[in-house]
Amino acid sequence: MRYIGKKVTGMPATDGAGVKLKRVIGSPALDMIDPFLMLDEFGSDDPESWIAGFPEHPHRGFETVTIMLDGRVKHADSVGNQGVIEAGDVQWMTAGSGIIHSEMPERADGRLHGFQLWVNLPGKLKMTSPRYQDVRASRIASASLNGATVRVIAGEGFGVKGAADTLMPVRLLDVAIGANAAFEIDVPDEHACFVYVYDGEVRGTDRNGKPVDIASGSLGVLVGTQGVRLEAGESGAKLLFADGKPIREPVARYGPFVMNTGEEVQKAFEDYSRGELVGV
Ligand code: MN
Repeated sequence: MRYIGKKVTGMPATDGAGVKLKRVIGSPALDMIDPFLMLDEFGSDDPESWIAGFPEHPHRGFETVTIMLDGRVKHADSVGNQGVIEAGDVQWMTAGSGIIHSEMPERADGRLHGFQLWVNLPGKLKMTSPRYQDVRASRIASASLNGATVRVIAGEGFGVKGAADTLMPVRLLDVAIGANAAFEIDVPDEHACFVYVYDGEVRGTDRNGKPVDIASGSLGVLVGTQGVRLEAGESGAKLLFADGKPIREPVARYGPFVMNTGEEVQKAFEDYSRGELVGV
């Protein structure tokens, strides 16, 4: 059984045009969980904290995954895609060789809640063609086992296949654990794995088998081998679960670009300033 090797709490950060968010992965406390580069939780009941959004900006070398729980984000990009990501929807975007897009929250009952996860790509795929997958909530199948329900965004869980197609072996589940129930799942030994609790609390164990609680707003890195088992208390729990095969290559990142070397990041900035980031 895997155990909780590290636990971190998201730290307040500001990004885009002044959006206040919680940075969970990609902070001084937790640089990355290869292949996962960043995890932000955004949203609050105060529209002033997020309405400025993320106006036009570039990306190259990795994938961004936007998971909406509440509210909407309108997006538009240099390739001509545009749409609205609504509550329950997921957008899996492969920036690849380069994309310029905007991500602007819209007021929907004044609420907004969601996540953005950055998934790295290996050097051989960093310059692949950009691609958008808008995965509507209705396309995300769910399955239940022993009081835990998973929405399978990518990969496979409880015998159900995810709607998003991934370039690398990555699984992403949105999990709801009922009161006093447990979430149990097998994970390939070579995969990195984490859970981020966004509602309620779960209990796992440390390497000595002693109980460790992960409360809402905290992430646990699950290390060791074999499967994962997390128990929820009386109020149940909701969490994001992800596992993926580490890429194990050098990571050079600056702002919106994630490459293997500093020279490649520099080249991305030059291409962007020359208007050549996006291939024609
Ligand atoms: Mn972006």
